[in-house]
Amino acid sequence: MTLYPWQQSIWQSLVRRHQTSGLPHALMFGGPEGTGKHPLCLFTATWLLCKNPADGPCGQCHSCQLMAAGTHPDFMLCQPEEDSRQIRIDTIRRLNHFIYSTPQISQCQVVILRPLEVMNLSAANALLKTLEEPPGESFLLLEAERPGSVLPTIRSRCQTISLPLPSHDDAMRWLLEQGVAAEDAEVALKRNANEPLTAYDWITSELSGQQNHWLEQLQQWMQGSLPLQVIADPWSKQFADVLAWWYDLSCDLMRAASGAPPELCRHGHLATDLLHGVAADTAKLITFLDKLQHLNAELMSGAAHHNKTLTIEVLLLEWRRMFTAPVGASLS
Ligand SMILES: [Zn+2]
Repeated sequence: MTLYPWQQSIWQSLVRRHQTSGLPHALMFGGPEGTGKHPLCLFTATWLLCKNPADGPCGQCHSCQLMAAGTHPDFMLCQPEEDSRQIRIDTIRRLNHFIYSTPQISQCQVVILRPLEVMNLSAANALLKTLEEPPGESFLLLEAERPGSVLPTIRSRCQTISLPLPSHDDAMRWLLEQGVAAEDAEVALKRNANEPLTAYDWITSELSGQQNHWLEQLQQWMQGSLPLQVIADPWSKQFADVLAWWYDLSCDLMRAASGAPPELCRHGHLATDLLHGVAADTAKLITFLDKLQHLNAELMSGAAHHNKTLTIEVLLLEWRRMFTAPVGASLS
């Protein structure tokens, strides 16, 4: 278990703080997932539980071995269960029960709760009680992608550690060390907001190929050469990924429509190419962006979405209406 190079300075300040004044019982790690927030939380948990901690977990003791095996009795990971996108009150009740009991082998207990944004209100209220009366020797490590969207009553009872994005050079260096070609690394970082882990996943998973395929389908749809249903059915099965990608693409269109050069667009020349010859209606584009942003926020907060195919169909129709002068074949 190691830290990423760009986490070193945050880690050193965390260690210094623990050694001088002690860490607070509730720490909120805020920032993008693709910078390694969860691995950092696990590293912190392992270190807090370690029998011989120095400026990191020793990696050798019984506690460190149990953490590596995922079976430490004084550690609890709380996240949405597989069939749910939300953290419910039952989970927080289990957390409370765990954190107020006596540690079994370590000197404290540690809970990681993630992501904080998907707690429903009753779960948040149950957690609030624990934050108000923290148990003696326990630590709550809370992960939030967007700390600003966490309930203020919760946020004010935690100390926030903001995880910044690494510099472009640091992110590039790390990707090259993983064996990624420089050209691919550049594109991947640009498409994924300079988050090195997301960029790496994007290259090594099927997502980059998938996104190119979605784009081809979208262009065929704009040209009227692909029926609505053929696109909407498969897209509805990858609803969250499609909406996140579509939002990024639409933001790029907005940038291009405002005159931004291709190097400032995540998709490079693509956005300007899409606009070229197909005058997008900017007012409609803003409405479209609003709608996608709202849907993405709903999904991130853990809400279930029931009419996925219908939603995709409506969005596809609205998308085509934004382009007043279609390329290629005429619109039907
Ligand atoms: Zn250890």
